[in-house]
Amino acid sequence: MGFINPKILGCYKNGISESFNSVIEVARKRPLITMLEEIRIYVMERLYRQKIKGQSWDLTICPTIRLKLSKLKDLQRFWKVISSGYQQYEVRLGYDAYVVDIGSRTCACRTWQLTGYPCVHGYACIASLNRDVEEYVSPWFTTSMYLNCYRYIINPLNGSDMWPHVDYINPLPPKRRRLPGRPSTKRKRD
Ligand SMILES: [Zn+2]
Repeated sequence: MGFINPKILGCYKNGISESFNSVIEVARKRPLITMLEEIRIYVMERLYRQKIKGQSWDLTICPTIRLKLSKLKDLQRFWKVISSGYQQYEVRLGYDAYVVDIGSRTCACRTWQLTGYPCVHGYACIASLNRDVEEYVSPWFTTSMYLNCYRYIINPLNGSDMWPHVDYINPLPPKRRRLPGRPSTKRKRD
């Protein structure tokens, strides 16, 4: 077991913006209003889909985290748990050893602190106490928290010919400056 998994860090930093970027790939090439309209429709439908998905779960913890925990369940058997002070343990496998504090929900491998659900070492401690590992998962991963995120809706909208008329002049697009070379559609990563 390594100390900090750079993959975990990377996915927390870029995951959301990158997946959103890939979804709006086509919309990004359109003129501004069309682009915003396409994004609005996408988000409107997505909020609904996610909410329906969440409502179908009869679980306290979201399925993705349950799946991760079920994989850890098999791995934790190999680790030996040695009790120390109150809620503190030393978890060993060969020469590897990590200090776990299930009270503060921390492990020296730092995965628990980073992900919000027990790492294999934390799991081993919880299993040795015959407790339910789901009680040690961060509340952020509960179904109720998930549904809370998707409780808002974007209202549906009539076509633009049904929008109320106003006396303001129509907004014009900015003057186009063409830079040499083919315009890039890739996101600038840095
Ligand atoms: Zn750990």
